Amino acid sequence: MIITLDGPAGAGKSTVSRQLARKLGYVYLDTGSLYRALAYKALKTVTPLDDEAAVALLCSRTEVALKNTEGALRVFLDNKDVTELIRTEEVSFAASKISAYGAVRKFLLDLQRQAGAGGGLVAEGRDMGSVVFPHADYKFYLDAAVEERTTRRYKELLAKGLDAEYQSLQDDMVARDRQDRQRRHSPLKVPDEAIIIDSTNMSVEQVTKKILNYLP
Ligand code: C5P
Repeated sequence: MIITLDGPAGAGKSTVSRQLARKLGYVYLDTGSLYRALAYKALKTVTPLDDEAAVALLCSRTEVALKNTEGALRVFLDNKDVTELIRTEEVSFAASKISAYGAVRKFLLDLQRQAGAGGGLVAEGRDMGSVVFPHADYKFYLDAAVEERTTRRYKELLAKGLDAEYQSLQDDMVARDRQDRQRRHSPLKVPDEAIIIDSTNMSVEQVTKKILNYLP
């Protein structure tokens, strides 16, 4: 069975997906981490983010891989574990920028589909139910008020000991969502047949339970 979760930043997709996958004994696929890994490399190599050809060339020289070990997902960039390094706001924004390019989406498409080849998958991102797994068994779209989404991200960053400023975080999030919704290739949208869940006033456990109630 393939279950997809799409939605804007901070809607709770990662935490809920991870919990769902653990409860079901499924593989967890965090597709944002793939875009983030590539964006991290683009920043490190000072590749101009607004130069599509340069970013496309970078794809051809890059290897991104995901490894599920004991329920935890690790992200490898050119054989180096970058799982923690890709969680900064700078990388978030760069990921949103380069993910608009057709060459980037094409580069990462097969990798995502391969993860779903064995079945038993919880996949989260922006185009899981619309493009990557259009025939998924269950599609969910998670949303929440922007203030709540910002608060979640704010607490997450502070918990990691990283610097965060609420208003700039919210501004960045709104800009990133707009970029993700308005792009030509695989924009963020509610996939056909998706069940919409507003998690604004719900805990992770409540959202997970609600999703599990839809499954056989
Ligand atoms: O989900 P996360 O915040 O880690 O994703 C980072 C960025 O990667 C998103 O803002 C989006 O631009 C891009 N992304 C995407 N398609 C996906 C997953 C992420 O375009 N399936």
